[in-house]
Amino acid sequence: MLVVGLTGGIGSGKTVVSDHFATRLGVPVIDTDLIARELVEPGQPALAEIATEFGAECLDDRGHLDRVRLREQVFVNQVGRRRLEAILHPRIRAVARQRIAALKAPYCLLVIPLLAETGMTELVDRVLVVDTPEAEQIRRVIARDQINETQARRILAAQASRAQRLALADEVLENFGDLAKLALPIADLHRHYLRLAAERLL
Ligand code: ATP
Repeated sequence: MLVVGLTGGIGSGKTVVSDHFATRLGVPVIDTDLIARELVEPGQPALAEIATEFGAECLDDRGHLDRVRLREQVFVNQVGRRRLEAILHPRIRAVARQRIAALKAPYCLLVIPLLAETGMTELVDRVLVVDTPEAEQIRRVIARDQINETQARRILAAQASRAQRLALADEVLENFGDLAKLALPIADLHRHYLRLAAERLL
């Protein structure tokens, strides 16, 4: 199956776009962020490894991952971040591969928000970048997440830049106009991916 990796910065519109592919065009969507969340549910081996590595204070009193505490530990230094990635990324890759293998469709979308940061490109055949100017990303996340501009800028600064993401793109979907205007370019991309998927079978 052709695997299209869908990425984009925070607030670029990945969810809006992947929902459109899924609900209007019937394309299967696998989201690596959701896989990551499942992997750290109570009882999962990855959660036990995180608690061993970063201390039991990363868990709340019900045994769930306390993301804020973990983030404090992990983002203070590169080493912590790498240790967390070493626990999660091989598992995310394995689950994503299993789920892709279980699908029956010409192509699927694999949503990898941090594709440019994590180098998970080996999971995908194509990279589709949802592209939005930074000023627009900031406006959207302030409106959606009720954070202030400084916080929004800090999150953007911690992510790959727009140019770094675009450098990985096979296809780019511009999402900085009216939402209703996405339908046509998405339909074009759908036809393009169906054609590529059919060519692989020849
Ligand atoms: P995150 O990385 O934070 O998960 P995302 O890339 O999945 O974000 P969305 O959640 O799809 O982004 O979009 C961010 C916000 O911007 C949402 O509230 C969405 O409704 C809005 N939005 C997305 N595209 C547009 C657009 N073209 N015009 C106006 N609002 C938009």
